[in-house]
Amino acid sequence: MSADISFQRGRRTPTLFKLLKERYTKQGLDERYIVSKWDEWGKNRSLSTFRAVKDDLIVGWIFYDRKTSTIEEIFVNTGWEGKDPRGAMIDALISRESLVAASLPKTDAEKYQFLLGYGFRPASSSRSHGSDLIKMELSTAVLLDKTRSAAPLPSYRKRERVAIEKIPPAQSYEEIKQGILNVIEKLGGMRRFVKPGQTVAIKPNIVSDHGLKDGKAIGGIVTDIRVIKALTEILLGIASHVYITEGSSINRSATGKMFAHYGYDEVVGLDPKRVTLVDLNNDRLVEKRVPGSKRLFSRKVPATLEMVDTIINVPVLKIHFAAIASLSIKNLQGAMPPIEKYMSHFFGLWQNLVNIHHLIKPKLILIDGLTGLEDFGPVSGIPRKMDLLIGGTNPVAVDAVAMRIMGLDPRVSPPVFLAWMQGFGPLEADKIDIIGPSVEDVAQKFVQPAIDVKGGTSLTIHSDEACPGCKGYLHFVLSKLRRPDPADPTRLLIDRPFEKPVNIFLGPSNIKEVKADEVNIFLGLCQQHNADKGTHLPGCPPHAEVLTSGIFSLFPDIERPKYADETEESKLKKMLEEILENRKA
Ligand code: SF4
Repeated sequence: MSADISFQRGRRTPTLFKLLKERYTKQGLDERYIVSKWDEWGKNRSLSTFRAVKDDLIVGWIFYDRKTSTIEEIFVNTGWEGKDPRGAMIDALISRESLVAASLPKTDAEKYQFLLGYGFRPASSSRSHGSDLIKMELSTAVLLDKTRSAAPLPSYRKRERVAIEKIPPAQSYEEIKQGILNVIEKLGGMRRFVKPGQTVAIKPNIVSDHGLKDGKAIGGIVTDIRVIKALTEILLGIASHVYITEGSSINRSATGKMFAHYGYDEVVGLDPKRVTLVDLNNDRLVEKRVPGSKRLFSRKVPATLEMVDTIINVPVLKIHFAAIASLSIKNLQGAMPPIEKYMSHFFGLWQNLVNIHHLIKPKLILIDGLTGLEDFGPVSGIPRKMDLLIGGTNPVAVDAVAMRIMGLDPRVSPPVFLAWMQGFGPLEADKIDIIGPSVEDVAQKFVQPAIDVKGGTSLTIHSDEACPGCKGYLHFVLSKLRRPDPADPTRLLIDRPFEKPVNIFLGPSNIKEVKADEVNIFLGLCQQHNADKGTHLPGCPPHAEVLTSGIFSLFPDIERPKYADETEESKLKKMLEEILENRKA
């Protein structure tokens, strides 16, 4: 990050307007665009004018809309004689804003090339002020790289508490229940979270049906039902009603089946009049406004989560092949309606996970660490007995502690890192008070998934600088090709020779040369600018379904592996296409 550029609040002066107009004229651009923009900025209360200063000299200006986190204009002072400072200016902007997009007229080829070189990618187009505009999003991989050694500005001031509770290895129901009571006590007592007669929603992680083998719980994949049952039993002593809420992420119509699969009737049986199972994928939706947040103005959320007095988030202590860890921040993905889950891949999954925390705010987080999941979580990993419960009220602090217990640096999980950068909580160990045994006392290094994105004989993968998102999902799809080819079982499907060499590009690095006579597949937002040079699979990271169908189209004779129910996915795809179409209009 650039330490030598600082920002001062600038004003929109007539001189500045003159300089801007001159730039447009000099570059042969239609100055009517900047004239009407200037007018619009005058009325826009979320518009900041930053004057970039280096060694007491003005190097340039950025016009930044805080509400949409968009750079409306960036330009260099005509008197500046040093090298182009715009990259350093954006570095400085990112260190204070963390979320940055850019908007420009389509005809501004110079600025487009500069932004592309920095790591912005064309995301949508629109028409305004008589001009065709491009909206460019900054690649999350670039953002993560630029901010790796940065700290949020302003930093989170409050100290947070996280409770760690060791459960006896026998893990009897009574011991688990006592452990939950101890965690709640350490955090200030039940009445801090639930008042007599209030309603509570528990959000476990019931991601898929993989959590049972031969009718027995494997552990680490879904929240242990004993934790949910014991918590419900405790809550029934004070709350008027307990809702157990989940919206399964993989097969979205299967949440009801999943409740039955894991025996949730037993939990309802504690008090059938006061315990209800709610399939959030089918819940009524209410529009929720988000005052003061960046870019996210409103979203539809399940009515049950809006109606209850308290939400308790109960994730599992597990590794996620793409998000690195699946803990409290990741677990709220299941609370969003199906179309939001599907769309989140298209508009940036990691940022969307952070955005959910503007909408749904659990008062209490209780991580089920009775058995964790290492290696290929969230569903195909290896269970690891930990005998732990981890509780707290701040999602960043709780996830940071849980990751340290798993032997991970919390900064490596994109959603945890972004939530920290955007001020949701502290990630630093010295800003979190641990109540209970220390992290070092309970930590065990979890095995990390060995992500393999090597290609085959005529399939080359170009994955420089790609973030764990694309690499993780691509690994998942390529693993389905590492099996004997039915057309010639002496080789693997991935080594099948193609008529023309096939390339798969991912990550934000700028490809020097795309060979037009080869087959080229471009993944995600980072490669969106190459969409017209081959097949583009959109998303950030692309949805597993999109990647699977895109890559398996190279193997028309092979049945495509199913990620989820196809009719549901295609319904969502259609809805998304309509939304994207409306965004263009
Ligand atoms: S498109 Fe892929 S590589 Fe790029 S930021 Fe998104 S997930 Fe990472």
